[in-house]
Amino acid sequence: MTATTKFFCPTCNTDRKFHREGINHRLHLILTVLTGGLWLVSWIAITIGRRYEPWNCNICDMPHHPPSANKKKK
Ligand SMILES: [Zn+2]
Repeated sequence: MTATTKFFCPTCNTDRKFHREGINHRLHLILTVLTGGLWLVSWIAITIGRRYEPWNCNICDMPHHPPSANKKKK
């Protein structure tokens, strides 16, 4: 499963669609059940950690991070 999004690509110098590998939540659900809930800790850590990984441009395939939501344009 691949997740997609769209933001400005500094390499292409224009808005591009980006993709990255999605999380197999069904697999993590099965592991959580099999480990009696212990795997839930890893599942949460992986889900949070994934948010900090870069996306790859569909055109140039360069890894980039989306523009920070904290930067407000005036
Ligand atoms: Zn690009």
